[in-house]
Amino acid sequence: MNIKASSLPLALVLAISAAAQTAHFDGQTWWNHIKVLADDKLEGRDTGSRGEREAQKHAVEQLKNAGAEPAGSEGFYQPVKFVSRQILEIDCRLALLRDGKREPLALGEDAIITTRILPAPEVQAALVFVGYGLKVPEKNYDDFAGLDVRGKIVVIFSGSPSEIPGALASHYQTLAERWKTLRAAGAIGIVSLMNPAVMDIPWSRIALNRAHPTMELDYPEFNETEGAKLAVTVNPASAERLFAGSGHTFAEIAALGKERKPLPHFPLTVSMAAKTKVEVTQVESANLVARFPGTDPALKDEYVVLSAHLDHIGIGELINGDRIYNGAMDNGSGSALVLDMADSFKKHREKLRRSLLLVLVTGEEKGLLGSKYFAAHPTVPAKSIVADVNVDMFLPIVPLKILTVLGLDESDLGDRTREIAQSFGVKVQPDPEPLRNVFIRSDQYNFIRHGIPSVMIDVGAEPGSPEQKVFKEWLTQRYHAPSDDVNQPVDLGAAAKYEEIVRALLLNVANRDLRPRWNSDSFFRRYAEPAKIGQIKIPEALGIK
Ligand SMILES: [Zn+2]
Repeated sequence: MNIKASSLPLALVLAISAAAQTAHFDGQTWWNHIKVLADDKLEGRDTGSRGEREAQKHAVEQLKNAGAEPAGSEGFYQPVKFVSRQILEIDCRLALLRDGKREPLALGEDAIITTRILPAPEVQAALVFVGYGLKVPEKNYDDFAGLDVRGKIVVIFSGSPSEIPGALASHYQTLAERWKTLRAAGAIGIVSLMNPAVMDIPWSRIALNRAHPTMELDYPEFNETEGAKLAVTVNPASAERLFAGSGHTFAEIAALGKERKPLPHFPLTVSMAAKTKVEVTQVESANLVARFPGTDPALKDEYVVLSAHLDHIGIGELINGDRIYNGAMDNGSGSALVLDMADSFKKHREKLRRSLLLVLVTGEEKGLLGSKYFAAHPTVPAKSIVADVNVDMFLPIVPLKILTVLGLDESDLGDRTREIAQSFGVKVQPDPEPLRNVFIRSDQYNFIRHGIPSVMIDVGAEPGSPEQKVFKEWLTQRYHAPSDDVNQPVDLGAAAKYEEIVRALLLNVANRDLRPRWNSDSFFRRYAEPAKIGQIKIPEALGIK
């Protein structure tokens, strides 16, 4: 039988053309990139490591082959300098002091001295429990009201009360924002109590990970913890020891915190004493930046960023006979998507009005450092970046029925994502677990801090669904573990569909007349000064209709 196209009913023609639009990806080429990036030979792509350099070389080759232009400061590269801090635990001591008596805390078992803050060689100070340790002027919320924490170490329960919206709570829990508040209050250190209800990985694995050095950007402008002398994280299983004699228990605090209820504030009867030693070395790496130029004379100097981090956490403690943390999903998956996307623009040329900027950042696992550097020193004019679509560990391990869109309600980028997803028969939801702070836990956050509307999109699950159990299990078993490798089940169909949606979103942002805008009620809108909004008229940018 032969059916001529002209005899097809219109609906069928449209259906066929819609199908053609969804044919850019098959999942397999994406998976092939992951197999390269997550190969044992690349040793988990630690920031500044040989393995990361190999991954970068591979990515640059792929970007070149796809016809992308170099858009870094040195070809495709934008060099970034770091300091690395390795704790020398053998020379460290940590203890509680109770009535003049020392109660040692075993490092690893009871607590960890974190080096995200460079610890002072010796610290001793009283402890004060400050609840969530938040000050949120927008909500008239202040955990420090009436408390004297001058010269003291504050003890904080990770999380936030339900009266603080998720994005806002996430924002104020970043180390930089937290330290601003603590410094103003006069505190000298932080003890973090993990919220057992939202721990992504068990304490045993957190304790193992402490052997990894931490990193900071090696530029004075990025020092966000001046005056901080000590940061300690306490195992929830040992936390009761801090509360003994205070009239409160950790169990009581954890039960309230789980429900995001208000927490009490009170001085603890113990002090903390620490002796620390840290080895500091310098490390260099780079972000990769590539461009597909737009063609519209009025819009081609504006950029839509697609970002993903290429680094992972390298070689670490042995788990089940394996010490290479391959990072296949985290974030081989997002990096592979960027390479796959570049290739799709070569194979299926699209008319782009704005330019597309592909950014593969370094140092994400060290605290979003590569993106922090890029957002502060972009290789294109700062005002020209109209949006960031970030892809990090999007987890196509279940069929794609629903997407979780971080930043869904913050800008019209969220609305555009919703529209496009729905056209593919996919629902969207905002972050169902705001306590996990995912919104500030990947690179989009640094773009947001510079006023750029951003989203991060993950394959999602409806609360209470079997898929949600799959994700939970994945986080417990594979997240930041050697088993996040290429020997895990993935759903190539879900990956391909996800890629199609991201591609359609990039095209939408590149080609629509208006650049994305913050919603008028978004907290993060404050970072978009009118001067940065460019095309939009000033009164509109100020929210005056
Ligand atoms: Zn990670």
